[in-house]
Amino acid sequence: MVGAGPVGLMLAAELRLGGADTVVVERLPAPTTQSRASTLHARTMELLAQRGLLPAFGAPPHAGTGHFGGLPLDLSRVPSPYAGLWKIPQPRIEHVLAGRATALGATVLRGRAVTALDTVGDRVTAAVDGPTGPSTVTADWVVGCDGEDSTVRRLAGIPFPGTDGTRELLRADLADIDLPARRFERHPRGLAVAGPVAEGVTRVMVHAYGDAPRERGSWGLAFGDVAATWERVVGEDISGARPLWVNAFDDTARQAARYRAGRVLLAGDAAHRQLPVGGQALNLGLHDAVNLGWKLAATARGLAPAGLLDTYHGERHPAGARTLTAIRAQTLLLLGGPRVDGVRALVGELLRLPGPRAHLAAGIAAVEPDPPDRPAHDPGASAAMDAALRAARGLLLDLSGSAARTAALRARCAGWAGRVDVVGTAPRPPGAAGPPPGAATVLVRPDGVTAWRGGRDADPEDALRGWFGAPH
Ligand SMILES: Cc1cc2nc3c(=O)[nH]c(=O)nc-3n(C[C@H](O)[C@H](O)[C@H](O)COP(=O)(O)OP(=O)(O)OC[C@H]3O[C@@H](n4cnc5c(N)ncnc54)[C@H](O)[C@@H]3O)c2cc1C
Repeated sequence: MVGAGPVGLMLAAELRLGGADTVVVERLPAPTTQSRASTLHARTMELLAQRGLLPAFGAPPHAGTGHFGGLPLDLSRVPSPYAGLWKIPQPRIEHVLAGRATALGATVLRGRAVTALDTVGDRVTAAVDGPTGPSTVTADWVVGCDGEDSTVRRLAGIPFPGTDGTRELLRADLADIDLPARRFERHPRGLAVAGPVAEGVTRVMVHAYGDAPRERGSWGLAFGDVAATWERVVGEDISGARPLWVNAFDDTARQAARYRAGRVLLAGDAAHRQLPVGGQALNLGLHDAVNLGWKLAATARGLAPAGLLDTYHGERHPAGARTLTAIRAQTLLLLGGPRVDGVRALVGELLRLPGPRAHLAAGIAAVEPDPPDRPAHDPGASAAMDAALRAARGLLLDLSGSAARTAALRARCAGWAGRVDVVGTAPRPPGAAGPPPGAATVLVRPDGVTAWRGGRDADPEDALRGWFGAPH
């Protein structure tokens, strides 16, 4: 992995769970303390829960209702046990993920930047600049988790098509000031947001309609610039506050044309760049990592069926494209100025209808449309499912309630033991709803995605071969 941001660290842990030797090379000598992202959506919470990581975050606060381009969007009714929005500051996420990756045996080399890649045969050598001078790291695979200006993407020659930013969004975290909360407040001259992010810290975000991105991004941006724009838009003087950090963002929207080039892959911001609005960038990147981890580990260990690794691009590129489309639409609604007032009114109306609301909410939450039934009546099966997913093994779930059938399935699947756990549920109590017809057996991948469903007589072998390779 190149980059020990949240995505590189999550992926490192996933690769270790899959049994691959893992090294993370990170340019920064110590983790960043910038607050950055803090919103987690339902699917991300599900992924953290299934790996047993949620207790490490305590009880994360619920972050109220969601929004789509600043228009209220109720995310609390998506089909997930973690419906809604959750707040965990990014440094805390990185701290937990770093501890987990190293506890599982990943090596994290800090203060070293990858500067060149050279693929010879089936090995990739990375040139690394570090405190003691240049060195190299050689691996079977390299994953660029090195953020939006990804060096790995450039070195691998992967095109990054999309559109340049045309609008600027300024942001500052401020101490020593008491400001009224402003939730996507539209003023004649621009948009303003203010709210607490920590004890004694208020985050302000401001866009003056029509302001183009400054040439040097956040470099050279002073708090005075943010305060001046705030005054211009809100008519309020915040120049007396103590700035903790300031940032400039823009609405650049780009996506890597390929998430894989030979032995080099991309994940997280390295694969997609978007305006950090709606709290989706971090979630999208973590989903990339969990999708890729088990596939790459199985490939590196020679266990994967042909083509498994390419399903990473096949699944995550469209997911990234959908999210980028939604963020582009949200950017227009948010930063579009009075010209978009009509569209905002119309979209606001649609968001109050159940169908459009559910559609957009499910997209933001990224929940699985039809997850397998959790056998509430059977704590034993639930615990066995948890154990399989915590260790990132596959799961063949027999919902028939017949111990004899489960035993037969287990014998049939002996060749995948260690990679796929066969779990049967106890007979349902009288009156309890049974599994849907035709879904007596469910195959769940190590990333928690339902891969296959079969009726009572269906044979799971093809599905097992397709996702987990040949039996051993
Ligand atoms: C200032 C800022 C504020 C943000 N605010 C929000 C927000 O409010 N909401 C939101 O949803 N998202 C926000 N984001 C986006 C969110 O933080 C990212 O989506 C998330 O960090 C992506 O994780 P990542 O691991 O893909 O990349 P990153 O977190 O960018 O991590 C990449 C890592 O790679 C390292 N690296 C880079 N090049 C090299 C190299 N050549 N060799 C070795 N290491 C290298 C970097 O030092 C870095 O640690 C923000 C991003 C930034 C930069």
